[in-house]
Amino acid sequence: MTSTSEPIDGLTLIDGLTSEALQAAMTEAIAAARSAAAPFGAVLLDLTDGSIVARAGNAVENGDPTAHAEMRVLRTMNRLSTPAAQYALASTAEPCPMCTAAAVFAGVGAIYYGTSIATLIALGWPQLDLPARELTSNVVPASYAPVVVGGVREAECDTLYTHRADAALAQQLARARDPRPPGHHALTPYLAVPDVHEAIAYYQAAFDARELLLVHAAENIVYHAEIVIPSIRDTVIALHEDLPGTARARPPQTIDGTTVTLTLWVNDVDAAFSRAITAGGCVDSPPENTYWGTRMARFRCPAGHGWTLAHQLLEVSSADQNLGAQAHLAAHPLTSLAGKSGSHMLVSGSS
Ligand SMILES: [Zn+2]
Repeated sequence: MTSTSEPIDGLTLIDGLTSEALQAAMTEAIAAARSAAAPFGAVLLDLTDGSIVARAGNAVENGDPTAHAEMRVLRTMNRLSTPAAQYALASTAEPCPMCTAAAVFAGVGAIYYGTSIATLIALGWPQLDLPARELTSNVVPASYAPVVVGGVREAECDTLYTHRADAALAQQLARARDPRPPGHHALTPYLAVPDVHEAIAYYQAAFDARELLLVHAAENIVYHAEIVIPSIRDTVIALHEDLPGTARARPPQTIDGTTVTLTLWVNDVDAAFSRAITAGGCVDSPPENTYWGTRMARFRCPAGHGWTLAHQLLEVSSADQNLGAQAHLAAHPLTSLAGKSGSHMLVSGSS
């Protein structure tokens, strides 16, 4: 069976389809639309039993301009083995000419939709002003044209577009689903430093960091800054100066040390380490191969933060890492934890 098999009479299909199944399909489409940046949703409905075989929302914000909801569900038809004409496309809005044409070429038996293109245009949504039925009336031979039925749950679908009729709102919705500002990963280190300008100059020299943002509270107080390090997948790091009396962290000097180490995964640990030290960093431990499979070096930046440069050479099992850690501890016992600050964690002495 292929999608070019003899089409089933669409009118028969609609008569045979329970309105309950179509209602369920449109509910799915409406749900998909509500979670999409551009609130367009579609489902593919099996007309023989009313089951929904695919559902999707508009996804053009991901960079594919053809990723309309209807296109996305039609693309799933390549995994269906039954005749295309037994499926219907149900969409919250009248399919655009691209999607209607795709539905015709896919060979679906019917197209159902809620909001009309005319309504979308009236609400300010840019559209190609060509109704789906007008397009399908040009199908030759006419028996291959899908049945087109509009106005399904129309009032409900219209509300999707009435309240979201401008692109700015649609963008806000997209942002609501992704809480990160542009360029940020899910976790952003926020470093307290004595002087943001000096810190940025160092990170530029050591890591090719780029300044993204500088927020001054007064001429000489940087409340907030952001840099990006392109070589570590555009990682953003935020910075601020010492702001005593606020909820911000204090710079390392104020506690004579730091309690967090930032790890940079780099291709060439030795070259990166040499550059970081030349730029003004302070050696904590020079490059070495570790028992857990990395080449690794540690240094302090002039602001006092601890950095690890690392490159994984091989994967080491957790059992072998445990053995390695035990051997390391035997060779390098910890000093008493009390009174030890601002220095190496592992120094020789009694435990
Ligand atoms: Zn479309």
